[in-house]
Amino acid sequence: MRVFCASIATETNTFSPLRTDFSDFEQSFYAPPGHHPATPTLCSAVFPALRKRAAEGSIELIEGTATWAEPGGLVNAPTWLRLRNEVLDQLKAALPLDAAIFGLHGAMIADGCVDCEGDLLEAVRQIVGPDCRVGTSFDPHSHLSEKRVRNADVITVFKEFPHTDFVEAGEACVDLTLKSARGEITPATSVFDVRMIDVLPTSIQPMRGFIDKLKQLEQSGNILSASVIHGFMAGDSPDLGARIIVVTNNEKAKGDRLARDLGMELFSFRGRAAPEFLTPHEALGRADASSRFPVVIADVWDNPGGGVAGDSTIMLQHVMEMGLQGVAVGTIWDPMAVRLCFAAGEGAEFDLRFGGKTSAHAGQPIDATVKVIRLVENAVQSFGTSVVPLGNSAVIRIGDLDIVLNTNRSQAFSPDLFTNLGVDISRKRILIVKSTNHFHGAFAPIAGEILYAAIDGPYPNDPRRTAYTRLKRALWPMVEDPHQEELA
Ligand SMILES: [Zn+2]
Repeated sequence: MRVFCASIATETNTFSPLRTDFSDFEQSFYAPPGHHPATPTLCSAVFPALRKRAAEGSIELIEGTATWAEPGGLVNAPTWLRLRNEVLDQLKAALPLDAAIFGLHGAMIADGCVDCEGDLLEAVRQIVGPDCRVGTSFDPHSHLSEKRVRNADVITVFKEFPHTDFVEAGEACVDLTLKSARGEITPATSVFDVRMIDVLPTSIQPMRGFIDKLKQLEQSGNILSASVIHGFMAGDSPDLGARIIVVTNNEKAKGDRLARDLGMELFSFRGRAAPEFLTPHEALGRADASSRFPVVIADVWDNPGGGVAGDSTIMLQHVMEMGLQGVAVGTIWDPMAVRLCFAAGEGAEFDLRFGGKTSAHAGQPIDATVKVIRLVENAVQSFGTSVVPLGNSAVIRIGDLDIVLNTNRSQAFSPDLFTNLGVDISRKRILIVKSTNHFHGAFAPIAGEILYAAIDGPYPNDPRRTAYTRLKRALWPMVEDPHQEELA
């Protein structure tokens, strides 16, 4: 059995002041055929899953390119066309094929192409023909277009947010697609449009119980797979919004009913699935008064993982104004400031301007006399078994305050973003990280308490106030009851 695989992934915040080009893919992750590392990246877990089967001798694997760019702004047209054509040329050269399996994110929007993954899967189907099985995994923060569903035989999605199960989703995609190619199953995909866009972390109720229910449904053997697309509120896509996907073994009507029932249950969670969001002052005040250290505070909307810069200084300004002790901040993206720190050298004290450079809504740059505590070339942090590059990074100190500055934009995934740079977090009272919820998995075991601070910035965090231009369907919270409106 001949199987091809490839991965093109990023998440496009169409409202971001940033822009994305090929260098963003190169900086985050770019592996030409045969160069994928042994460990998976978030969206390329199908590679190690397929290599394992190739090593066992059950398939012949033809690898294409795997690449990922940290979420950012609109992808420019030449970059998208280069990556698309590169993978499609590899696919043509690999024919004939029994299966083609992709690790896609699902929220990539390029200049001139609103549905990159739908466009890619449609082109794939034209090349491989109707008999080759096509499978793909998606991130739940994506836009599920009809074009994607029509051209893929199998779709799996990370169930967890934080996405701690990306390896399982890749495994499931490979398993179901290969079973289908062998004729052991006939996957039928049912989709229900939930008509809402919300923040749906699975680390707390009600989503925790909902995801456990989906897993039980899969384990019962009645269905092949069940997933939730959360949608990505920072992407101006006509397919914005949550959806339920149920894959049955050729039982479409049963799948449709189940998808609808699950979808209406999800709809009932609207407005009450997100954790308590605090103002910076509330979050810092609560953290300072806590007796369980370190308190981890997420700066939820200045999350580079949502496509913004991650250089907001607003939380830091509050820390300095409140005169809080024992605080570490990770990370603030500022390649220019890192360059100056490297030129100054470890141990140097000098006047530095850092942060607050890419948006008028993310605070002013900070001007301070800083001490350079630590410099690390090509620093990394971990996300499960995945290694995430931070680029050259510096730890600077202002009084008692430690701040990690980095060169490669990345959200906070793990406490090792501090410890790899020599910051002793066991002696800190408060850790401030830039992430909406991906930090939660690895920080929860070391955190005394976890708080969420929400600050308006360049991330469009209230869909009622976001100027979407492509939306044609009614969605909650812009419309109170979009299902009723649909019926009327
Ligand atoms: Zn996601």
